[in-house]
Amino acid sequence: MPYNGAVARVARLPERVEPRYLAEREARLCGQLSLARMERLAASLCDGEGTVFIDLLFEKDEQGRDMAVGHVTARLPVRCQRCLEAMEIAIATAVCLAFTDAEAPPPDGYDTVPLVGDTISLSDLVEDELMLALPMAPMHEDCPVGVWRRYLENRAPSEAPRKPFAALARIRRPAG
Ligand SMILES: [Zn+2]
Repeated sequence: MPYNGAVARVARLPERVEPRYLAEREARLCGQLSLARMERLAASLCDGEGTVFIDLLFEKDEQGRDMAVGHVTARLPVRCQRCLEAMEIAIATAVCLAFTDAEAPPPDGYDTVPLVGDTISLSDLVEDELMLALPMAPMHEDCPVGVWRRYLENRAPSEAPRKPFAALARIRRPAG
């Protein structure tokens, strides 16, 4: 999903949010988050540079549950698991979360976020969504040609051209 430029106009996002408060007011949070705070996600990336955009509407559903609905899009630096070159992957994931009391059993059919206290880190929330959306083994559709050329050039010398006559000589040598 391409990033919608309109989101960029929104002011800086808060570090911590109050989901219940935001849901009561049907607040919408759009904007860019820094990857720098997402240390768990960083373990799966090959670089700390990247961009994350969120567009989340907080609202109450018919049962009065506090929800966050929208999407998270990101361009993340990862290593191709086939050629091991750095590459960027685009992630676009839909978000539909219900915030629950930490003690309450999670409602069926929802991704739930247990709330301990009133506030939650927006970064942590989005990081969880990105980690779920990140492919286990990201790969280029077509790995760059230069990579394969380097691979062939760097192959071990043991893979030098075969010498069929040497093999023949061994066969002809009398046993013992
Ligand atoms: Zn590749």
